[in-house]
Amino acid sequence: MAGRAKVAAAIDNMPVPEKMKAWVLGDPGELTLVEKPVPHPGAAEVLVRIGATAVCGTDLEVISHGEPALIQGGMPFNKNFTPGHEYMGTVVRLGPGVDEFKIGDRIAVEIHAGCGRCERCREGMYTSCLNYGMNYGDHDKGHRANGFTTDGGFAEYAINHVNTLVHVPENMTDEEATLIVTAGTATYGLDVLGGLLAGQCLVVTGPGPIGLMSVGVAKALGASPVILTGTSSDLRRLEIGRKFGADEVVNVSEEDAVAAVRRITGGKGAHYVMECSGAPDAVNQAARMVSRGGRICLAAFAHAPVTVDVAYLVSNNIYLFGIRGEGRSAVRRAASLMAQARFPAGLVHTHTFTLDQVPTAIRYAKERIEDAIKVVVKM
Ligand SMILES: [Zn+2]
Ligand SMILES: [Zn+2]
Repeated sequence: MAGRAKVAAAIDNMPVPEKMKAWVLGDPGELTLVEKPVPHPGAAEVLVRIGATAVCGTDLEVISHGEPALIQGGMPFNKNFTPGHEYMGTVVRLGPGVDEFKIGDRIAVEIHAGCGRCERCREGMYTSCLNYGMNYGDHDKGHRANGFTTDGGFAEYAINHVNTLVHVPENMTDEEATLIVTAGTATYGLDVLGGLLAGQCLVVTGPGPIGLMSVGVAKALGASPVILTGTSSDLRRLEIGRKFGADEVVNVSEEDAVAAVRRITGGKGAHYVMECSGAPDAVNQAARMVSRGGRICLAAFAHAPVTVDVAYLVSNNIYLFGIRGEGRSAVRRAASLMAQARFPAGLVHTHTFTLDQVPTAIRYAKERIEDAIKVVVKM
C-alpha cells in the first residue's frame, strides 16, 4: 500500500501538460497525428492519462465509413475527432465534486455515459441512449460515447464520466485491461440481454475478440455445452477458444455448422446463439441452431443487407436482437470475472504498437496480419 500511495503522490505532483498528441480523423480512412489541448474534466468527470488502447472492429468501421460515430449531428469526418474506445489508464485530474476515484487510480473504461435523462437511460440501457450524439451546442443533453460521439483513446489523455470507470487489479497488465470492455460487451449480450442460465447450451459463431470473450464469460456463468464455430482461417482462434473453455469447436470449412450443433446437442439444438461472425447467412444458420423459443444475439456487423427467413423465426418463436455496447454495468461484472481469472483473457491480445504507430496497428487489425486478433496501442 505504501508503494501505491507513493505512486499516487508522484502523479499528484506531476504536472499535466497543456497540449497532448492525438490522432484525428480527416477524410474516410485518413488519420493524422496532431497536437490538441488537454481537456479539462467537468462535474462527475475525470481526466485519464491513457496507458493503452485496443483496436476494435468498430474502430475500423468508424475510420472507414463513419458510422456508428456521430459528431455534431453528422459523420465524424474532418471534425477534429479522435477515435478509439477500448482503453485503460490512470486518473490524473478530478472534476468538481468527484470522490468516487482518486488521483493515481488505475482504471479501465466503458464507452457509453448515457444522458441519464431519457427513457432508455432511466431503464439502465444507457448504451441505447435516445439522446445518442446529442452533446453539442443547444443540443447538449450530456450524452458521451468516447470514440463515437466524443473524443476517444488514440491520444495521450481523455475525459471520462465517473460512471464509465472500473478499477483495474494491480496484477493485470495494461494490455489485458483494455479487454475488459470487450468482455463487458460479451457479458451484456449473455447475462442481462440474453438471460443465459447455468446449464444452457450456447453457440458462439465467429471466434473474434467478442466471440472468444463470450466463450469465457459463458463458461464462467455455467453454460454447458459451449460450442464455438470458425473457418479454416480461424484455426489459431479456435485453439484459443478451447483455452477459454469451449466444450466443442467446429471448423465450418469442414463440417456444416448447423449439422454440427445438432450432432453435439443430440438433435435438440442450442438454447442460445451469440452471432459474432457477420457472415451473410449467419442469421438463417443461427435460427436453425437453436431449439424452438431459442434466442439469437447479433453482435457483428454484416457488410450488406441480408435475406432472412422470417417465417422460420415466426413459426419457431425465435427471439432475435442486436446488442449495442456494454449496458447495465456489464463492464463491472466482466472486470470482476477477469480479476478472478475465470478465463485467460490476455491470450486474445497478439500485437502491441506505440501511439505513433496507430495507422500500422489499424492495418494489422484490419488485414489480420500475422494472425492478429487484438492489437493494442501502448503509450
Ligand atoms: Zn469495441
Ligand atoms: Zn439517455
